[in-house]
Amino acid sequence: ATRPANLTDMLAQTVQRYPHQEALVMNQVRLTYRELEEQVVQVAAQLSTVYRIQKGDRVAVLLGNCIEFALLLFACARLGAILVPLNTRLKEQEVSFMLSHAEVKLLVTDWEFVGKVETLREQFGQNLPHLQYFILVNNNEEQLTLKYSYTTFQNLLQPGPSITPAQVGEEDPLLIMYTSGTTGLPKGAVLSHLGVIHSAINYEQRLETDQETRTLIAVPLFHVTGLIGQLLHMILVGGTSVLMRRHQTEPFIRLMAEEKISFLFNVPAIYVMVLNHELFPKYKYDSVKIIAYGGAPMSPETIHALRQAFPGVRLHNAYGATETSSPTTIMPREYPDTKLSSVGLPVSVAELKVVDEEGQLCGPNEVGELWIKGPMVVAGYWRNEGANRQNFVDGYWLSGDLARIDEDGYVYIMDRKKDMINRGGEKVYSVEVENILYSHPQVFEAAVVGQPHPVLGEEVVAYVVPKPGAELAAEEIIDFLAQRLADYKVPKKVFFLDELPRNPGGKVLKAQLKDHA
Ligand code: ATP
Repeated sequence: ATRPANLTDMLAQTVQRYPHQEALVMNQVRLTYRELEEQVVQVAAQLSTVYRIQKGDRVAVLLGNCIEFALLLFACARLGAILVPLNTRLKEQEVSFMLSHAEVKLLVTDWEFVGKVETLREQFGQNLPHLQYFILVNNNEEQLTLKYSYTTFQNLLQPGPSITPAQVGEEDPLLIMYTSGTTGLPKGAVLSHLGVIHSAINYEQRLETDQETRTLIAVPLFHVTGLIGQLLHMILVGGTSVLMRRHQTEPFIRLMAEEKISFLFNVPAIYVMVLNHELFPKYKYDSVKIIAYGGAPMSPETIHALRQAFPGVRLHNAYGATETSSPTTIMPREYPDTKLSSVGLPVSVAELKVVDEEGQLCGPNEVGELWIKGPMVVAGYWRNEGANRQNFVDGYWLSGDLARIDEDGYVYIMDRKKDMINRGGEKVYSVEVENILYSHPQVFEAAVVGQPHPVLGEEVVAYVVPKPGAELAAEEIIDFLAQRLADYKVPKKVFFLDELPRNPGGKVLKAQLKDHA
């Protein structure tokens, strides 16, 4: 097949090759590729004729994972409109910022978040003159008492006049995805059709997936891992996506076995929860062949545990960001064990460089900031000239990650620039200390941050979540680390928590921990 020019072509190619293959599965619903395309055509026609959605318009979704999410993405792509997936954990004020900043015309939500939307309309409605239409995906029997009116999603699934797809070029925007905001105000990365398709192809090639591949999507579709690494990747190859509204460990384990899942792609936190769950040993997972992970560093302990739990499985670390439409590097199928901590090799036609604080190019294995260029890198942030000037130089996106590249081209992420602790001039990579913590048999989760210190500037402190039933003391943890790390890297304080604060993408909110310290 030739590379599709846009998402509509991509779906059409798959429908032609595998019309009867299962595309999407959720609860009792199973859609083939032909059915998926038919519904997309209906939704696009209704959006265009009834809601006047045109090329370039923005449509937002505030939804848990569901089939409607996929239908809306492809319907927007067909019209040349831009989908704005919103993080469902955001508060009303944050959502209203994004709706107003992207001048969204239509918002689609569901029964779970409609209360949030009602409050938002009440409190911020006057700031949203562009927002004209609201659609409710109502898949709940519960009686809802609503103040404002909504159209139901069922009305979009009507046979309507057939609409010719808009002229959509490779570079045209497909998505505006606001970065998760572990730092500052959210920035809307504008992902193009080309960037997203390029990413899906890279996953197909590196992970060697095809129409037989079945994935279970538990990470949110409003982040790139779920949306591109799983959903769009599967649609490119003709594979099957089984959707979970959100991650829950018990149903995840059950569905993995029952739905004969062959490809997993999750943030590390989900693997930790699954492997430690009492239900895990009760099932067999012979169908699982490929396990990808990314979004945050994964400890060597978890990698070993996965290898043991899924013998013979292929493990692929994948490093990327919203700004790179998902993957920048992916671990190849085979690699020497010495490269285990690497995030792999750059995807095809990506250009990577490591730059030091003076702006000089680093040599092999020297640590500096990773700069990334290629078709998967976004052209910029939506209406944010300041951030564009700050984060893009000569077509490179400045990742904010500290990395080194070895003599064979393998990339290693050391830490995020802002998470690196500078203890009186000695650099401490929080990830390195966390990895040692994870090797302690009683540690369930750990995070290491810098605490302000009057003399040293910063001091190292650790937050630890013990395994259920474990009795742990701070001194014991400190001893354990002191035997394995240079003294300046050893935390001076250890705090115990029931859980780490995380964003819905699974990332530890270190800024919150610093405040706590
Ligand atoms: P914000 O910019 O608001 O902090 P964010 O950076 O969390 O948001 P994402 O685009 O979701 O937004 O995350 C990308 C970041 O996740 C990368 O820059 C990197 O720090 C981290 N990351 C992604 N994959 C990996 C991986 N495989 N190993 C280590 N870290 C990873």
